[in-house]
Amino acid sequence: MSIAGGVAKALLRGQQTGCDTIQIFTKNNNQWRAKALTDQEVRTYHEHRGTTGIWPVVAHDGYLINPASPKRDLYRKSLEALRIEVGRAAALEIPCLIIHPGAHLGTGEAEGIQRVVEALDTILEDAKASSVTICLETTAGQGSSLGHRFEHLAAIREGMKQRDRVGICMDTCHIFAAGYEIRGRAGYEQTMRQLDTVIGLDHIKCIHLNDSQRELGSRVDRHAHIGQGQIGLEGFRLLVNDPRLRHIPMILETPKGEDPVATDRRNLAVLRSLVRG
Ligand code: MN
Ligand code: MN
Ligand code: ZN
Repeated sequence: MSIAGGVAKALLRGQQTGCDTIQIFTKNNNQWRAKALTDQEVRTYHEHRGTTGIWPVVAHDGYLINPASPKRDLYRKSLEALRIEVGRAAALEIPCLIIHPGAHLGTGEAEGIQRVVEALDTILEDAKASSVTICLETTAGQGSSLGHRFEHLAAIREGMKQRDRVGICMDTCHIFAAGYEIRGRAGYEQTMRQLDTVIGLDHIKCIHLNDSQRELGSRVDRHAHIGQGQIGLEGFRLLVNDPRLRHIPMILETPKGEDPVATDRRNLAVLRSLVRG
């Protein structure tokens, strides 16, 4: 949900759309800098949280951040930016900050993973008092980006001292583009079994529900409206009726179109129509 006009506005947009839960950027997602949240902004946000009943709100980090970068300057900037993102999430009592593990830029997966481990341990060590959980998102695997194998995310968690404060966000478009089948019962169950064995389903803290414009294994990240992409309705039917995932917040990141409220409402209605019982 857009935070244009202030973070509190996202809650009103969510209410207007009929959401139980929303995801926000807590700052401009294409810039390093941000004005600090004012006390008034935070107060209004918490008021709207109460009146709308929307819970949980999850946050997504900015697009410039790359904690796997081998470039010292970008790595240092990414750490600083993540520190600020954790602080903003804490001020808004957001339980879960979703981040992309980043791109190793040709230095190899093992080295990239090691840099992410150190980055996240450093940040969480500094943010000891806050209760924000960092959620590593599964990725489509464009370029040298990490996170398109469940093993990458497991290795990051397992390498960390602060691993208890790190969860996983599963994005349906991304795992499908990365080559994990979810379109029919057999493929879906196999993918869930792998996720459970490699990472553990109990570490999934958020799910992004997006259809994929591109085919299985394309490693290209292009979101489509629910049921109108290569995944199709059956994969989403299996997912929204999976009792193992019932308690996990599910977020749409489908294209917004010219009328975001109407477009989001349509995707939500499609998903809700798939829920049995
Ligand atoms: Mn993401
Ligand atoms: Mn996503
Ligand atoms: Zn995506």
